[in-house]
Amino acid sequence: MANFWEIKALSELTQSEWEQLCDGCAKCCLLKVEDEETGIIYGTNVVCQYLNIEKCQCENYSQRSVLVPECVTLNSDNLEQVYFMPSSCSYRLLAEGKPLPEWHPLITHRKESVHESGHSIRGKVISELEADDLQHHLTGEWE
Ligand code: SF4
Ligand code: SF4
Repeated sequence: MANFWEIKALSELTQSEWEQLCDGCAKCCLLKVEDEETGIIYGTNVVCQYLNIEKCQCENYSQRSVLVPECVTLNSDNLEQVYFMPSSCSYRLLAEGKPLPEWHPLITHRKESVHESGHSIRGKVISELEADDLQHHLTGEWE
């Protein structure tokens, strides 16, 4: 039987399918910095204060858009926002007509595979509550 993400458009997914698509990487919770002169956006190794870094889960999920206005709540009605997501984000990959990576939990049937493969933020970031100037934490141009 074909996999739902291979035969359905993002706009056709059920809520359950939509949620299963998230790989749990938490890269979308990384803080970004925009160069005001060039408009170029840079990533950092600093994450939102509401992220549980060990679990890679938001601790205020239901309140996230109130607490953090720039937190993008992606859904089928605002798919143009998918380009604010990292290039490895499952929603962005599918929007670009690309397959899910081999480490994706839907492929491996194991949630931990995103962490074991090194594709999550676990072990690589600090909270914004601990960070000083974000300019000291730039990791390169946001892709
Ligand atoms: S970047 Fe995409 S796949 Fe990763 S946690 Fe965020 S929404 Fe999910
Ligand atoms: S509010 Fe939650 S989902 Fe939004 S960026 Fe912060 S930790 Fe991530």
